[in-house]
Amino acid sequence: MNSSITPLVTNSPEYNSVSANFRTQFQRTLPKIHSILKIKMSNQFMNRFENFKKQKMNYSKLLLYHGTKYSCNIKDLKSTEMLCSHLKCGVCGIIKNGPKLTMANNNGNGRFIWFAPLPHVSHGYTGIISVPGQIYPTSKFGAIFMMDVIDATPFQSCYIVGNEESRFIVPLNIIPKTVK
Ligand SMILES: [Zn+2]
Repeated sequence: MNSSITPLVTNSPEYNSVSANFRTQFQRTLPKIHSILKIKMSNQFMNRFENFKKQKMNYSKLLLYHGTKYSCNIKDLKSTEMLCSHLKCGVCGIIKNGPKLTMANNNGNGRFIWFAPLPHVSHGYTGIISVPGQIYPTSKFGAIFMMDVIDATPFQSCYIVGNEESRFIVPLNIIPKTVK
């Protein structure tokens, strides 16, 4: 089974719970939430994640945010058929394969996947990455992932995951798309 996307119905209990978290934790001018998508990751991804947890006696699990760029029409994203295959489109890449170290920023000590405990921090990393020939009607939107992260390392005011094992991260199913 590949990943799947389910848009949450506005004002459903799950929608309200996610949006309440987002609103209370967002410590800047609050962007409007356009939609919240529930992402179910592929079986292959989930098996890797479950195996990783099984190998550990103890692990920490945190609910963290991750902002990334996009190069397609995320505003109207409703199903996995609409995902693009631009290499630089982080939103589609994460939904299909999870976050990848090869796409991560190098902070001078190596590549790490970065997470923030608060959504306004991740919001600063959203936005468009342009692809030649593409027209972007949706530049005012940004996608933020909310994920369960196992054994993340605190770094400055964020968290990083830098090795191949603990890169097994499960997106907890939600993308607030926010108007910048
Ligand atoms: Zn895309």
